[in-house]
Amino acid sequence: MRKISATWIFPGNQPPLKNGILICEDDGTVVDLIDTGGHLREQAGLEQYSGILVPGFVNAHCHLELSHLEGKISEKTGLGEFLGAINKFRNSEAEDQEEAMKHANFQMWNSGIVAVGDVSNSYSSLETKRTSKMHYHTFVEAFGFHPSRAEKAFAFAEFVEAMFREVGLPASVTPHSPYSVSELLFRKIRKKALAENTILTVHNQESQAEIEFFLKGTGPVFQHLSQTLALDISHWEPTGKSSLEFTLSFIPRENPLLLVHNTFTSSEDIEILKQQRNLENTFLVLCPNANLYIEDRLPPVLLFQNEKMNICLGTDSLASNQTLSILNEMITLQKFFPKISLYDLVEWGCWNGAQALGLTDLFGSLKPGKKPGVNLITGVDLKGLKLTEKSKVKKLM
Ligand SMILES: [Zn+2]
Repeated sequence: MRKISATWIFPGNQPPLKNGILICEDDGTVVDLIDTGGHLREQAGLEQYSGILVPGFVNAHCHLELSHLEGKISEKTGLGEFLGAINKFRNSEAEDQEEAMKHANFQMWNSGIVAVGDVSNSYSSLETKRTSKMHYHTFVEAFGFHPSRAEKAFAFAEFVEAMFREVGLPASVTPHSPYSVSELLFRKIRKKALAENTILTVHNQESQAEIEFFLKGTGPVFQHLSQTLALDISHWEPTGKSSLEFTLSFIPRENPLLLVHNTFTSSEDIEILKQQRNLENTFLVLCPNANLYIEDRLPPVLLFQNEKMNICLGTDSLASNQTLSILNEMITLQKFFPKISLYDLVEWGCWNGAQALGLTDLFGSLKPGKKPGVNLITGVDLKGLKLTEKSKVKKLM
């Protein structure tokens, strides 16, 4: 049994406790969370820390299989260039991929992450996930912009999904993005998702290029598809609407949906979202460090907060990030949006991610009976209750 106290305990989905005490079994199962009212008395066997205690983090968006692309792609070139580079490097140095995934998996675990929503195109990450101490939900990403690709792309995604499920790892087939999935493929994914009530995720409004492609059919996404990938895109007609509106027309209202990036999502888009979705099962996943890496732009976080959206955090992959650390995403948000409270950041990085992946029975809060992981964050401005650039995480359990 361990008795742990810190300057503040943030339980994940409840207000923080000053000088609270967390009691855990040696295996990490939470036994009790004690509110001392801020008055901690000396007691035997109590571990005391300066800093804040939080539950294990949930990384709601990652691509483990791109880990070997760390440091390979230039920063701040925009999505068009980035997609071209991914396409070029994806299958290069494949012998390093396994090692890189194992290392990335360890890096996440070591930075206090306990569960990951991971986007995969293949089953190359299966062994790393099977032997990982973290919980993984694999989103098997289908893509195929030309309708003639739909049958094959869908069959392959179902095959990959079955490989994961066979070894007991949760997986669901999901669309990559509105500009890489044909209507026919979208409809196949929709039908399956409805029948199986699975969790869906999709990259949403990551770039101005995506917006331009839907409104006018031009720009860097058009160039990527027609030139870099040399696809026949003569069937494509711009919708004249936002890409989010297009995506939502294929996503069943009943299924949980994680919209990733949302860098260029506007207040009009939020109105559409409110009309077409239940906000309880709709999550906006923010990956601020990847947004700065690729587009050098951040999503309108304060708008999402004002609109009471469920915000979660993701790291994206090492192709577009220096580290896979949810704390580092929180630090970036704190730096660029100093008004965001630490309470909200912890809720986004722990509880909301667990909700999005359907894991609140296991993770996301320091509730007795759960084994949610316990992290100590140091280097915090404890008076103002803000993260600083010196904030660090230590995994206690
Ligand atoms: Zn991504």
